[in-house]
Amino acid sequence: MENRETYSPSSKTIAAISTPQAPGGIGIVRISGPRAREIAGKVFTSKRGKTLDEIKGYTALYGRVHDGDEAIDEAIALNYTAPASFTGEDVVELSCHGGLYLLRRVLKAVFSAGAVPAGPGEFTRRAFLNGKIGLTEAESVMQLIGAQGGQAAKAALAGHDGALEKKIRKIRESLIQTAAHLSAWADYPEDDIPEVNEESLHETLRFAKEELDRLLSQFDAGRAIREGVVTVIAGRPNVGKSTLMNLLSGCERSIVTEYAGTTRDIVEDTVILGDVPLRLSDTAGIHLTEDPVELIGVERARERIREAQLILAVFDSSQGLNDEDRELVSVIRDAPSIAVVNKSDLPAKIDLEYIKYNFKRIVYISALSGEGLEQLKNAVAELLHTAGLNPAEGILFTERQRDAARRAGEGVDEALAAVESGITLDAVTVSIEGAISALLELTGERATEAVVDSVFHHFCVGK
Ligand code: GDP
Repeated sequence: MENRETYSPSSKTIAAISTPQAPGGIGIVRISGPRAREIAGKVFTSKRGKTLDEIKGYTALYGRVHDGDEAIDEAIALNYTAPASFTGEDVVELSCHGGLYLLRRVLKAVFSAGAVPAGPGEFTRRAFLNGKIGLTEAESVMQLIGAQGGQAAKAALAGHDGALEKKIRKIRESLIQTAAHLSAWADYPEDDIPEVNEESLHETLRFAKEELDRLLSQFDAGRAIREGVVTVIAGRPNVGKSTLMNLLSGCERSIVTEYAGTTRDIVEDTVILGDVPLRLSDTAGIHLTEDPVELIGVERARERIREAQLILAVFDSSQGLNDEDRELVSVIRDAPSIAVVNKSDLPAKIDLEYIKYNFKRIVYISALSGEGLEQLKNAVAELLHTAGLNPAEGILFTERQRDAARRAGEGVDEALAAVESGITLDAVTVSIEGAISALLELTGERATEAVVDSVFHHFCVGK
């Protein structure tokens, strides 16, 4: 087990470039650990002649970074004193001029002065081990770095503020109280501990169950918002797939043409529709063809449809349905799809009854004018259950969190079943303890070293 109780702060002082590895206006070398000020003092000399030991936490010095006698760059040294820093340790951040070459030279000088290279996510890991942030918050730091779109960033920020952690703690506290009461009552029968009221036991377990179920049901929607949804625009040639894709992209990405069958290649693009990033691929239609090049395209389109998380099945409302349209309908049966009845600006000839019979969700749109885009947005949000999701309330972010929540839910289920079937309260206690333990693992308060490792493994160096 590697948790906060058994952790003793590492004596090593670590350093890394903490800004993106790309040219920029400024770049930061971060140093964290007990020797942070001493090491920074060896490579940094302030203009005023003051040392980092002489200034207060959260203040800065302006000066030069050097490697021995050789000057490297002008820099600001920002001083954070333990425990009031991100990692909970002494931290010095050297803000230098951007440019990888310069930053690497500064970092090298810092290593020569006694720091060791930080591992992936090691700053955040230390923050976790020093009790500055919870494991779910650490995970959201990572999400925040990779967030696409407003809702995703909001969700990650909420995680960073501990919204999920608070929610989990609330569930856990009620279970702990119940388990403690049950144990006390069972272990000290001669004392006057009031009998556990079955109704309130039920209520506690139901509350836990409902909260966990809600979190679990929001997981897929949360993931859709964070990672985007693999989306295929399907339909026979000329129904307006490319036009729709361009409407969604807001730019001309695929070739729009009057002639059928020209969109042979699959063009990919990520667009944000409402709250959801759609990872779009424009596909060839599923038409019967002898042309070997087109055949490849058609086969690829079928494959994409099988793998898609969302299919926008496009139909041309100004024409009657043909065999290819029907073929598409049969291919996507049971898949998560929306019928996009396009060209609503033209007189309708399409057999709407057939579409209504085969699709739960239908949107009428003019990809050319943009009319109906809002309805499409709503239909997508409804299908992916992202509509009512408020990421600020805290949602499960990672498979690890989901797995722990699921195990906690199973423990609560067992406890509920035990209560209902009148099994001894001992059995109920054991099940509740199983649930509590899974929840402690979720927030990292009782996570194994392997779990902690795998969380930080995904981080990049410098975070
Ligand atoms: P694809 O083969 O399915 O990709 O179809 P395209 O996007 O290339 O469109 C085929 C033709 O239909 C083009 O001439 C488009 O301008 C036209 N088109 C697409 N959407 C609409 C629409 O909503 N209304 C009208 N009137 N024409 C459209």
